[in-house]
Order: sequence, then structure tokens, then C-alpha cells
Amino acid sequence: MTAHAFAITTTLACTMLCDWAGVAAESGMTARALASPTESPAVATDMRVGGDDKQTRFVVDLNRKIDLAAFTLADPFRVVVDLPQITFKLPAKAGEQTRGLVKAFRYGLIMQGGSRIVLDTKGPVRLDKALVLDAVEGQPARLVLDLVATDRASFMRNIALEKHPAHNVSVRPSEAPPKVDGDARPLIVLDPGHGGIDNGTKGSGGELEKDVVLAFAQTLREKLESGGKFRVAMTRSDDTFIPLAERVRFARTHGAALFISVHADALPRSEGQAEGATVYTLSENASDAEAARLAEAENKADAIAGVDLTTEPDDVANILVDLAQRETKTFSMQFARTVVGELKTAARLHKHPLKSAGFKVLLAPDVPSVLVELGYMSTKDDLKQLTSAAWRARTAQALAQAVDTFLTPRIAGTGGGRN
Ligand SMILES: [Zn+2]
Repeated sequence: MTAHAFAITTTLACTMLCDWAGVAAESGMTARALASPTESPAVATDMRVGGDDKQTRFVVDLNRKIDLAAFTLADPFRVVVDLPQITFKLPAKAGEQTRGLVKAFRYGLIMQGGSRIVLDTKGPVRLDKALVLDAVEGQPARLVLDLVATDRASFMRNIALEKHPAHNVSVRPSEAPPKVDGDARPLIVLDPGHGGIDNGTKGSGGELEKDVVLAFAQTLREKLESGGKFRVAMTRSDDTFIPLAERVRFARTHGAALFISVHADALPRSEGQAEGATVYTLSENASDAEAARLAEAENKADAIAGVDLTTEPDDVANILVDLAQRETKTFSMQFARTVVGELKTAARLHKHPLKSAGFKVLLAPDVPSVLVELGYMSTKDDLKQLTSAAWRARTAQALAQAVDTFLTPRIAGTGGGRN
């Protein structure tokens, strides 16, 4: 997208670029990236934010020039920058620099071959400049965004004027379920939460929910497959972002018999401590305040990744009303109870291990779905378990047993000549 009229604010450009000359040159580029420039993704080596509440500049140093497409989104206010796949080798604390109009930002893989940077802004902003500068005089190539504060009315007008057909992420899960002719074994879809640009919650040592839940889902997959009774597919099997609706669609189009979304929770320090695993099902009204908070947090995944939410069908509540999903709901509840029963033997459970709330990822009207929060990344003992291979194997085994306990009578009941 190059349609933006980018006026150049020369004063800001000069102060900031001149100030920063040489900074990036020191950080250098990796020899490996230079060795095969045509195949390797570009590398982001450093970044910085400068300016104030009226004008803010966001700069990322790159080892070479690349294309970009930048646009703004409302509710919440965001600036999204789509790029070819980038290797981010930024200093560890780079993501914590926020200043001026930039409230928070994150970066990562949004789809195979594509990276994204999402900035949360303090209010409506105008993209005054969004470009990648060539490397000059000892400075590396730089991605430069200039944000200028604006009012909501102008912001909404700008959005309406922009033509950006490719805004939304339309990625396919990285893997299609195995299709073997005549294989009537039930398909279990495992859904490791978050991924790519969306890290999920964080442990005290920098452990990321997206990694913890992917490792768990992979172990669970092995346990389920080794039993031979089920086919298994995962909504993601690598560090890629998948929109919530896409996860649901994946389970539905492949006729999943069960959908298991895997997450790990965290409590803000002010809310004290909690521990153990919880199994959630879908409901219009949350079972308690904590369940409501959690569903809200998990439902934010799309906003975090810069998905335009204004074009989405409406609330969870509205959808629920219309769904002829009583049977699915009953199955989901039964399965959730079975999971809690089996997990008891292997893992620590939350004091109220069975809860419900309006999770978008549980919206399939025809696939029994649960969301398992394995434990709390914010609780020391839980985090130790969540990152332990022994715990993972034990807990995945219990969950695989729950799938077996729940589905085997059903297969027997309907199976007849089935496998
Ligand atoms: Zn999560």
C-alpha cells in the first residue's frame, strides 16, 4: 500500500535521524544474513521510539531495504505495519520502550512469509510517514514511522478513505489434517493458543505462553496418536499467528469430533496468587469474575495481532442466542468434566476447576470444545511444572485418557463397521 500521502516533517526527521546516526551501525548485521542475502529474511537489528504526545517517531534498523504496508485501525487504536518475513534480533528489552503516542508494541510472524509490527497508540493518530530508507553513510536501512496525534473524527475519516483490501490476516492453519481414505477414526483438533506476534502471557523468566502451550499440544498429540484410535490435527504446529475464527473454522471444516484449546493463565500481581489447571466451556454468562476476565484476555488475541475487528460479526452473546447448539454444549460439558476427572490424578487443579465464559475460540456450534488453562505462568510452582517435560508427559497422558474415556463409548455406539 503506497497510497498514503506522506508529508515529511523535516524538523522531526532531522533531529531524530541525525541524533541516531551511527547508533545502528554499531549494532551491525549478522554474517550469516549477509552470506546469503537472497534467501534469508531481512534482519531487524535495533529499534527506538522518540518524540512526544503530539509527534512520535518509531524506527527499526534493518540489514537491507524491504517493502512495507502500513495502516491504522480503530477500537482499539492501532498502527499496523506488514512486512515480508523478518528475523527480529532486537535487544531483549526493545519491546519495553514506549514513548509519546506509542503505548505498547509487538512484532512477530503473522503468516508464513510475512511479519507484522503492531503499535498500540494512546489515541487516534495519523500516519504522517511510513517508509523504509536506504542505508546511507554508515547508517543501516531504516523503517521509519511518523505518527501525529489527531482527533477521532479525522481518524475515522482517514480509515474510510483508505483502500486497503489486504488488511486482514487470511492465513490458513499451517497443517491440514491427515486424510487417509476410509480412515473413519475421529479427528481431534488441538489448538495451541496464541503464536507469532501474539505471545500470550509471560513467566517471570521470560517464558512465553505460546511456547509452553505448543510444547504441551505436541506432547498431547503424540500420546493421542500412539493409542491408534484417533487422528490428530493442530491449528498451528509452529510459531505462527492464527486468528481465533480461523481456529474454529479449521475444526468445523474438517469435521472434528473434539476441539481442545490449550492455554496458560497469568494473574496481574495486584490480584494475588492462583494455581492449578482449569477447564473452560462456552457460556454466555461467565461462571465468575475470573472466568470473565480470562475470556476477555484470551479474546484479545486478534486485536493484539492487528486484526480489524470492526468487520467481524458481532458479540459472542449474539451468536450464542442463534445457535442450535444445545447438544454440542452438553457434550462439551461432559467432556470438560471427564478432563477434570482425569487431570486430578496427574496435575494440580484450580480450586474451582470447571468454569465457563464467552471464549470466541469455543464458538463452533457443532464441535464439542473446551479450553484448558494448564496453570498460571505467574505462579512460581505452576511455572516450574508448565516448563517441565515430566509434568508435560504426565498431564498430556491424563488428557489423552480423558479423550479416550469420552469418545470410546461414542465410537462403539455409532461405529458398527467403522475401523
Ligand atoms: Zn492464552
